[in-house]
Amino acid sequence: MTNFTLSKVDLNAFIKSLSKNFDVYAPVKDHVVDGGSVRFKVVSDAKVICLSENAYYPLKELFFRKKEVLFKYSEKGLEVPVKKVKSKAILGIRRCDLHSLANQDRIYMREVPDPYYIAEREKTLLIGYHCKKAEEYCFCGSIDLQGNADIMLYELPGNKFLVEVHSDNALRLVESLKKIFKKTDIVIDAESRKIEGSNRLQKKDVHSFYDNPGWQEGIDKCLSCAACNFHCPSCYCFNIHDEANVHNMKEGERIRTWAGCQLKSFTRVAGEHIFRDTRKDRFRHRIYHQLQYFKERYGTTLCSGCGRCIRFCPTKIDFIDILNRM
Ligand code: SF4
Ligand code: SF4
Repeated sequence: MTNFTLSKVDLNAFIKSLSKNFDVYAPVKDHVVDGGSVRFKVVSDAKVICLSENAYYPLKELFFRKKEVLFKYSEKGLEVPVKKVKSKAILGIRRCDLHSLANQDRIYMREVPDPYYIAEREKTLLIGYHCKKAEEYCFCGSIDLQGNADIMLYELPGNKFLVEVHSDNALRLVESLKKIFKKTDIVIDAESRKIEGSNRLQKKDVHSFYDNPGWQEGIDKCLSCAACNFHCPSCYCFNIHDEANVHNMKEGERIRTWAGCQLKSFTRVAGEHIFRDTRKDRFRHRIYHQLQYFKERYGTTLCSGCGRCIRFCPTKIDFIDILNRM
């Protein structure tokens, strides 16, 4: 593998060059629209990029849309909207979010190929960013992270990035920009790939803790609000409903929206039966799906250890602390 360096002052030239063929997305801290939260947005200038903080809004919203019109219906029949999607280059994706994206790809591109997701996801160039220090609730160091970027950026002294190239397309791109990407012999060793302070989860196998009384602490504080589901870059569940046109009830749309297993309605079926009726069942289910069930089926945890579900939980339930105390 050939490595390169990229000076931070040349990041703008890189973005300009990418913009010829892609919508370039990067994390942006927007005080006006998002109240100072970080979100992946289209950028044309490196000055607005925020690499120092992980995005508040999960990357999945660019592919698995919060609201998707699956088809429109009328007396004439069904009409499936044609998606015209410009290729995306997404810069600044942290290792945790690459893991989550790989899991979303597994579900929506391979397990049950989903044309709406695939249309958004294909022709995407992923440019990862190695963050050196864990944020307060991160535990990615306790997770066997999967997922790769086409290009990976590592901080180097002297206001530079080390650039690792992992795909043929990305190599062609980088080699075509000789003025800003310089070949180097520098390699990132195993120690530098670690993220300081991220090994918070002490348990690899949570199998035996299902009936542990320690869960009660979290259950008592949980509001069943599902903020944890909606901020999670890995959660992939959805709901489907029809919306009729109130002015002409013979037509309408079938719509898919994000759903969350922490909502009581999530497992409600005909006859008003609710499979996970208690908060206890819902609370444990999310954590077991993230750390255990998905791993049993696919060999990797659904959870990436990004810590968003703890950071944005209104009652700050730290399920890692809870598990560690069991
Ligand atoms: S965000 Fe917190 S309070 Fe809301 S459902 Fe998730 S764990 Fe419960
Ligand atoms: S469960 Fe929490 S820590 Fe794990 S990927 Fe989802 S938001 Fe991140």
